[in-house]
Amino acid sequence: MRARPWAILAWGLLLLLAIGAMALWQQRSLAQELERESGALNRLLSQRAGQHDAHLTALSAIASASAEPERELFLEVASTITHFYPRIDDVQLVPLDAQAPVIGTGPLAPDLADRIRAAARASTGDIALMPYPGRAHHYLMVKRSPNTPAARYGLALGINAEKLVDEAGAFWHRPGVVLALAMPDGRPLAGQSHPSGVVRSGRVIDSASQPLILETGLNVGWADRLPPAPTALLLALVSLLYWAALGAWRQRARARVVAEQARINALESRLAHASRVNALGEMASGLTHELTQPLTAILAQAQAGRRLAASGQGAALESVLDGMIAQARRASAILDRFRDWSRPRPPSNAAFDLRETVRNVQALLAPKAASSGVRIEFSVPGDPVLVRADPVEMEQAAFNLVRNAIEAVEGRADARIAVDLRPQGGRAVLDVVDNGPGVAPDIRADLFTPFATTREGGMGLGLALSRRLVERIDGDLDLIDGPNPGATFRMAIPLAGAQEEDPS
Ligand code: ADP
Repeated sequence: MRARPWAILAWGLLLLLAIGAMALWQQRSLAQELERESGALNRLLSQRAGQHDAHLTALSAIASASAEPERELFLEVASTITHFYPRIDDVQLVPLDAQAPVIGTGPLAPDLADRIRAAARASTGDIALMPYPGRAHHYLMVKRSPNTPAARYGLALGINAEKLVDEAGAFWHRPGVVLALAMPDGRPLAGQSHPSGVVRSGRVIDSASQPLILETGLNVGWADRLPPAPTALLLALVSLLYWAALGAWRQRARARVVAEQARINALESRLAHASRVNALGEMASGLTHELTQPLTAILAQAQAGRRLAASGQGAALESVLDGMIAQARRASAILDRFRDWSRPRPPSNAAFDLRETVRNVQALLAPKAASSGVRIEFSVPGDPVLVRADPVEMEQAAFNLVRNAIEAVEGRADARIAVDLRPQGGRAVLDVVDNGPGVAPDIRADLFTPFATTREGGMGLGLALSRRLVERIDGDLDLIDGPNPGATFRMAIPLAGAQEEDPS
């Protein structure tokens, strides 16, 4: 079965929709992942910031434990810190007294020492945060020590922000993932200064001393939105569902058509039956006439038989009785034909001789023709004309044509009808020609549609039904241009031999 263009178009649209939904869904889940990972990173950085606060507190305790700072101890602890926490790469204890020596893990420029002092003096208890002059990606934390107005030192930690965000997790090394860390005033510390990306997230690190700004972003490409394997799987699944649903829908539609056709067929056969019964009514007078003849003959022969029996001529009785039997059989055959017409029966498609049809129609309508003064000439070929159809239905169609012809010509002087059956070009052709007025022009266009009639009391069903019966077996029924001004109806049915090989 070939797919219709609209089905392929709808399939294409569905695939596009699926691709769009997939891309949106992927982008949404990537944004959620970024949000999740950014939250985790924020927590990690907050923890690390907390460690800086703790180190400052510990170092401050060591520095202010005695009147003079224990230089060795302080440096030992400081270098342990810088060893285990490589991001903390500078520890300085700067006495507020500018004359006293600075204790630190590395050399300290005098102007930076002044700045540390100034920050410690200005401190009211909080840790001061400032950029580390001359060191990129670094910031400096300054705490007064001891943490009272009588502070004697400025304690400073230099933090490498690049290392602070380092080793934050595999996610942050994925292509397309960007992050940036900035001082609270927005001065860049580490990463890209302004992360680009389709999805972004920004938050402040949860630390009172180091409220750094963390910005993250994710550049989402088409390969991220439409990962090949899941996309192919989704498209295959959508296609499968679509075609399966379409197939089921088509099957249901076909089943509906078959059911509807069966309903129409049932209606048609009821209509055909009703039409036959109607015709039967019309033929009732013909029936009387037909039966009167054999019954009268039987009566006459029975009377003759009684006379013969009374006069003792028993031998002559045999031929009288034979005659009676013949007449009774004739009457029975007439009744059989009428009964055949009136009885609904399943259609048959066996091959039969269409000449029989013509003969039966002749027998059925001869009385009506005779009483209407119409002359009908029936002509059939010498050889059988075999067609595959229901004999009663074909008889009904031919009957309607001949009956219409009788009605068209009756009452006219020289009313004549010719019924001609012959095989022609692989078809059985039956012409019914009359010399009546011809079909009225105003109903020609609708002649074969139901309820088109000019006849008083007519139903307008005869021709419509006849055509339907004939078309059902691939035949045609038409009004054609005949040889005279009357009407010529032609029924043409495929010959049984033309459709299949004759086994004989
Ligand atoms: P009905 O006989 O009930 O009217 P039909 O379908 O048999 O229904 O015929 C429809 C109409 O076709 C008739 O009313 C008549 O006008 C026209 N018609 C049929 N056969 C002939 C004919 N042989 N000559 C003229 N008109 C005809």
